[in-house]
Amino acid sequence: MPTNRYDKILVINSGSSSLKFMLFSMRAETMLAKGLVERIGAPSANLAYQRNGEAKTDEAISADNHGQALEMACAMLAHPERGVLKNLSEVNAIGHRVVHGGEQFRDSMSIDENVKKGINDCAALAPLHNPPNMGGIVACEKVFPGIPNVAVFDTAFHQTMEPHAFLYAIPYKYYEQYRIRKYGFHGTSHKFVMQATAAWLNKPVEELKLITCHLGNGSSIAAINGGRVVDTTMGMTPLPGLVMGSRCGDLDPAVVLFLARQGMTPDAIDDLLNKRSGLRGVGGLESGDMRDIVDAAAKGNTSAASALKMFGHRAALYIGGYFTLLGGADAIVLTGGIGENSAAARAAIVERLTALGCHLDPARNAETRGRAGAITQDTSRVPVLIMPTNEELMIARETFRVLTSPAQPVTNATA
Ligand code: ADP
Repeated sequence: MPTNRYDKILVINSGSSSLKFMLFSMRAETMLAKGLVERIGAPSANLAYQRNGEAKTDEAISADNHGQALEMACAMLAHPERGVLKNLSEVNAIGHRVVHGGEQFRDSMSIDENVKKGINDCAALAPLHNPPNMGGIVACEKVFPGIPNVAVFDTAFHQTMEPHAFLYAIPYKYYEQYRIRKYGFHGTSHKFVMQATAAWLNKPVEELKLITCHLGNGSSIAAINGGRVVDTTMGMTPLPGLVMGSRCGDLDPAVVLFLARQGMTPDAIDDLLNKRSGLRGVGGLESGDMRDIVDAAAKGNTSAASALKMFGHRAALYIGGYFTLLGGADAIVLTGGIGENSAAARAAIVERLTALGCHLDPARNAETRGRAGAITQDTSRVPVLIMPTNEELMIARETFRVLTSPAQPVTNATA
């Protein structure tokens, strides 16, 4: 494939007070440099920067808004000594992470005025994420005039779900009026891991049934049949499904009503379920970090041990359900910070999957860290594989694909 025209792709992940960037050369998919501006708008913003293979540096900068943050990042990328570009004009395209694409976006999109309007329309579904994502897009349009921008949505990969999977069992008019339904998130990671697993198994994606588990601070599982998502654990928001770092995952919705009737405000309940629950809430450690949970459980802390069991139990419940929906699976794939690194958390899941024919190999589990590999015994009917994810590279690949494919991808509106 000719990469010259779109060799240098900048990937931007713009949050409410942060801007993450990564520059790739697509010729050999090499990451050239990456960085993160934090505390945008605060008196002391920070720019972390790292060239491939070198140590990370931190420096205090002034960045009142995303535009200034991007300018500081670009100054670093084109810095005479520390940069990786002679000139910013070497950047051929920019890929943006956009959290919510609603039902409008089934695929990554080359950004024009219509797409920007669509992203703004979806802001009601992700008020904390889509507006800062837009902030990154607008900043790039100013700093890189005439350079193509592509939006890569966390939700798009899950748009293949059918109504019986994505609708909630409430009257249809709430879907019609408010678009209340399951959307799913982490789509970029699930898609990357699906493709990486197909390459690992040496089979086309179309012939595979996979259960991909993205296990990080936020976690979700997807059931994928022939490249199409059949179901996933997150919902209209990233709150439901698995037990996460600080999010509760599945919960009887009446618990929310009960708490409201006790006098808790919607904001207080939001804070409780999103920030003070999950491993953090159950483990009682003031930390939702799996390393802290595992360490404390190993030292006999019963709350931490209980959090770890709950994590494994909930994940196994969904994996079993998805195995049934798919009519079997060629592999169960674990990724994300926990999936790639935490042998104890993986064991808490896989030890519950013997009915599916998954038998943990403790030695493989202990030694597989941050690299691809099976952690089940070779005699297992279904292998459990570790597959490192790379969401930034996937965004760069999507950007390249959208800009070089002859047909523009479709939205629901035009399909
Ligand atoms: P995010 O969802 O914020 O991208 P990550 O994918 O980085 O999160 O995952 C963070 C989680 O991964 C944390 O719970 C952390 O404890 C866990 N983790 C990261 N590295 C390790 C490690 N070496 N061993 C065990 N757990 C790890």
